[in-house]
Amino acid sequence: MSDVTTINAALNSPQRQYALERTRNIGIAAHIDAGKTTTTERILFYTGLIHKIGDVDDGNTVTDWMEQEKERGITITSAAVTCFWTQKKEPGIFKTFETIPNRVNIIDTPGHVDFTAEVERSMRVLDGAVAVFCGVAGVQPQSETVWRQATKYKVPRIAFVNKMDRTGANFENALNDMRKKLGAYAFPVFLPIGAEDNFAGLVDVVNQKAFVWGPGDVTNEGLKYEVTEIPDNLKEKAKQALADLIDAVSNKDDTIANLVLEEQPISAPVLKQAIRRLTCRIELVPVLCGSAFKKKGVQCLLDTVIDYLPSPIDIPPTEGHVPGSEEKKVVAPNDNSLFCSLAFKLWTDPYAGKLVFFRVYAGKLKKGDTVYNPRSRRRERVSRLMIIQGSERKDVDSVYSGDIAALVGLRNIWTGDTLCDENFDVTLEPPTFPEPVISMAIEPKTKNDRDKMGDGLARLAEEDPTFKVFTNEDTGQLIIAGMGELHLEIIRDRLKREFNVEADAGAPQIAYRETITKHAEGEGKFIRQSGGRGQYGHACVTIEPNEKGKGIEVLNEIVGGTIPREFIPAVEDGIREAIRGGVYAGYQVIDVKVAITDGSFHEVDSNELAFKMAGIFAVKDAFGKAGPILLEPLMKVEVTTPDEYQGDLLGDINRRRGIILGVDAKAGQTILQATVPLAEMFGYATAIRSLSKGRASYSMEPSTFEQVPNSVLTAVMDAAKKRPAARS
Ligand code: GDP
Repeated sequence: MSDVTTINAALNSPQRQYALERTRNIGIAAHIDAGKTTTTERILFYTGLIHKIGDVDDGNTVTDWMEQEKERGITITSAAVTCFWTQKKEPGIFKTFETIPNRVNIIDTPGHVDFTAEVERSMRVLDGAVAVFCGVAGVQPQSETVWRQATKYKVPRIAFVNKMDRTGANFENALNDMRKKLGAYAFPVFLPIGAEDNFAGLVDVVNQKAFVWGPGDVTNEGLKYEVTEIPDNLKEKAKQALADLIDAVSNKDDTIANLVLEEQPISAPVLKQAIRRLTCRIELVPVLCGSAFKKKGVQCLLDTVIDYLPSPIDIPPTEGHVPGSEEKKVVAPNDNSLFCSLAFKLWTDPYAGKLVFFRVYAGKLKKGDTVYNPRSRRRERVSRLMIIQGSERKDVDSVYSGDIAALVGLRNIWTGDTLCDENFDVTLEPPTFPEPVISMAIEPKTKNDRDKMGDGLARLAEEDPTFKVFTNEDTGQLIIAGMGELHLEIIRDRLKREFNVEADAGAPQIAYRETITKHAEGEGKFIRQSGGRGQYGHACVTIEPNEKGKGIEVLNEIVGGTIPREFIPAVEDGIREAIRGGVYAGYQVIDVKVAITDGSFHEVDSNELAFKMAGIFAVKDAFGKAGPILLEPLMKVEVTTPDEYQGDLLGDINRRRGIILGVDAKAGQTILQATVPLAEMFGYATAIRSLSKGRASYSMEPSTFEQVPNSVLTAVMDAAKKRPAARS
């Protein structure tokens, strides 16, 4: 960990207002309903960013609550909100800063798996996370997913057991859950005083003090807590918790281990520094609790964030690579080096227009500066810089290393782009985004809205890298693809709200393919010779399976001019056209080799059109005799599940015509690998959730095309006949 002198040496911009070690870039991650929104809102309230809550009693009417929901919607779904928190004396870890505010940037992390992209992109730019758990439900499936993602991105964490006021709340259970289900080395730094209706406050384990909120808390009059002696009935427990904490820390930290060995006293600041070191190295998870709703414990949470979560200089510097090479480069925070930042979220703001949220890794940026985008090789001017404070957008003149802010003025930008000084030859790793797994056709309710819908979808795809939009060439339909049904539902909703286009979505379609299994011959004639100018085209072809992946090949094997040279391209066109539109069931044909072998012509009546038609008829004739089959896309599916659901999930994959490729155990989880036809994967997200009580997760990606088995062929063919004609 850097000390203050080195930090100041590296970050010596005279204008810099906030020392980096007083900055926390954090995310608040949780299972849906654990209280992430309420906790965030309370944080904004205590840090003075929102005042509205003062008008409403807790437990007020649903309508009022909904109004606030709207109000905070702006605030909380912003990609990043900045607030300031001054630690009171009590925690005592940063003595010099007791009266100086710390800056906390809260980066939004949605709790739903459908929004993987959001979680991935925020994990990439935050330095630490608060994992919020429900005091009643403990570790829920989404918490497991988010926890794994945080581990993947090496994000230090603290845990907040919320809803301690609710019936059934149990701190111990939640703690054990964290240890068992998440394998977390988790230890309380605060204990609850009472629970459910009697939840009164927290015991600060390190300082052996109690924080008690008076009855006035329920209104906004008594938001402050009192620091008192630990209640008698908890004294023993608090002592034990401190002993356990010291024991846990000494197992991993030499300073504390030595003090224990030498039987020296361990002061609160020394213990806290050790907890901080371990937390920043992701070796320990400090746990506290509270009730965001009843506004108890939120100040302690903020103090814990400042005490234990890393500042941008407490974690290893980020890495980038030199464009066009494998060479890696470290990008360390330093205001005096060249500017380098990562654009992690695009956001269309109703007032300010297109906001680009970005994190500065090195250097500084002023309003009016030009930034360079190595991907597009373009330079663009930054017309405004701002930070979001509550529901306000506050303009700032400059931003520095470690900052998170938003800029306005860039047109050509994608999520994950590096923005830097033109002379900075490093591209930062963009977050990795999974490929869409579900798709459906979409069309505007009003035909005239088609262009508007296209524009809107393109804009949304720009903002969200896991959302794709394309046209199905077979059907001409516009297809949207994303991470799950909810994801696509929200896209449709945003289309309506933000672009004023209402759209209907169809059931997702599978892209089947056709091919053949054996050699065959075919003949096609297009002869009209009754009255007027005649038509005469005649072609013979052979057809055979082509090597996998080779596509369609058409050869000319005519000898002796049975079809004149000038008509060969027309025959070939006919063959390709017939095949493109599908012969057997109207799906694209792959991997066949067609040879034009023979034919005849008429001096006067032969023309291109007649030979094209002859080509179409000949290849259709041959295709029918060549053992045509239908192919379907298979997906490679990987399921991660707690062991106990393995049997049910395997059974389910079998029922879906899946083939199991492997079953492995990893970190207390079972990993199933299988290939499953895409046609059988619709609704899988829902099925896996219910079969595993939401605890298993899966990913899938396109693998190969294989023959549709006879058992389902009839159904597929029937469906194909009902589909809008794709052939020309
Ligand atoms: P999110 O989905 O994680 O953002 O959760 P919310 O903050 O929207 O909370 C979900 C529900 O739990 C709401 O009805 C909240 O009022 C309620 N809630 C949040 N925190 C607490 C708490 O500390 N105690 C109780 N009793 N309810 C809470």
